[in-house]
Amino acid sequence: MSLSQKIFEAGVVGAGGAGFPTHVKAKSQVEYMIANGAECEPLIHKDYEIMLHHAKEIVNGLELMMAETGARKGVFGIKSKNALAIEAIENAYSNGKIRTLQLGDFYPTGDEYELVYEATGKLIPPHGIPLDIGAVVNNVETLYNISRAAEGIPVTEKFVCVTGAVKNPSTFFAPVGISFGELIEHCGGTTVENFGIFIGGLLMGTLTFDLNEVVTKTTTGIIILPQDHYMIQRMNRSINDMNRIGKSACDQCSYCTEFCPRYLLGYDVQPHKVMRSLEFTKSGNAVWNLYADLCSSCGLCSLYSCPEDLYPREACDQSKAELKSQGIKYEQVKPLKVHPVRDGRKVPLKQLMKKLNVTHYNFQTPFRDEKLMPGSVRVPLKQHVGAPAVPVVKKGQPVKKGDLIGDIKEGTLGAKVHSSINGIIKEINNKYILIDKI
Ligand code: SF4
Ligand code: SF4
Repeated sequence: MSLSQKIFEAGVVGAGGAGFPTHVKAKSQVEYMIANGAECEPLIHKDYEIMLHHAKEIVNGLELMMAETGARKGVFGIKSKNALAIEAIENAYSNGKIRTLQLGDFYPTGDEYELVYEATGKLIPPHGIPLDIGAVVNNVETLYNISRAAEGIPVTEKFVCVTGAVKNPSTFFAPVGISFGELIEHCGGTTVENFGIFIGGLLMGTLTFDLNEVVTKTTTGIIILPQDHYMIQRMNRSINDMNRIGKSACDQCSYCTEFCPRYLLGYDVQPHKVMRSLEFTKSGNAVWNLYADLCSSCGLCSLYSCPEDLYPREACDQSKAELKSQGIKYEQVKPLKVHPVRDGRKVPLKQLMKKLNVTHYNFQTPFRDEKLMPGSVRVPLKQHVGAPAVPVVKKGQPVKKGDLIGDIKEGTLGAKVHSSINGIIKEINNKYILIDKI
């Protein structure tokens, strides 16, 4: 069986948050195979910990992918501040085709467009993917999963970082489908009574108050913050309120554009113009929406650059959705060229954490090699880009950890889903499969 077939069978998807089915990437032919260990969301350190403790598997995953895709160059993108992770990774490779690219501690260094440019000196074309310039990027945890897939082990666990207002901030493997409530319990509980949970990060993640939400193959971690924290208050506003405030307070200073990482790389993203779609000019949305189309939703404009604390990212998200619904794609006219002041405008993570008022939550999150044994798991059928998996089990059926429970037709974009515990199928619907432990 080829590596891409083994990856398909194991249900491997991008573990850094994107969830793109990895077997598709394994089928390409490229020059560069890039390992993304840049991890730039504040407070989350799961990539650092997995590199520290599973460097051998990660390097093996990269080497397997290089062999499969014909890549002649392997690059590990890791922040220079993570010296121990760099040492662990470098000790694990002896392949002369692999090198480490040390990155500065900026946000969003881990963005694919940023990383590919740093690693290759090439810019991905507007609306493009790394493959367009002969590269494939995989998160370091995805490479770990590829290494295991090569041995026939499916993805049933997710490496997660649980941090913020919890008693024991830490990183560990959690069964896919375990609830956030159980993750928090595993970390000794919260240090505050009322709290909100950021899933996957403060900038690009989402906010929930629901302890029953579950870990998927793309959950990088959860961050607990007190309910009266600036970030929760800010993100818990309705979109109507965000728009209303933006419409009345945006003074078109353009700081959001001047600090936009995509704009600085040369893409025609201009959030200050997108803000005009909130109807404080007479021109219609059709004019202003276009300047959002190449936005990555990194969140920097809303959470760092705007001196008025407005929501340009959210305005961009609305504009992108509108363009998509109308089937419009912005074709960049201006030449793709890195802005000369890009280096001077990079945003240090320390500054960003200060602005978000989370510096005091920037704990170490050491790896705990302990098995979690939940009483039940709720395994979502769609944890990836593409079509949801189709259940292949019946209610009352016993399953073992690693058994296939949701399948994808070959040739369809998607990923297989496996049971993450030994148990009995309790419930099946079009969203998830509930399994009770036996
Ligand atoms: S930085 Fe804020 S105030 Fe300035 S143009 Fe952008 S959204 Fe408007
Ligand atoms: S979210 Fe804002 S800063 Fe980030 S890419 Fe989009 S417009 Fe630029």
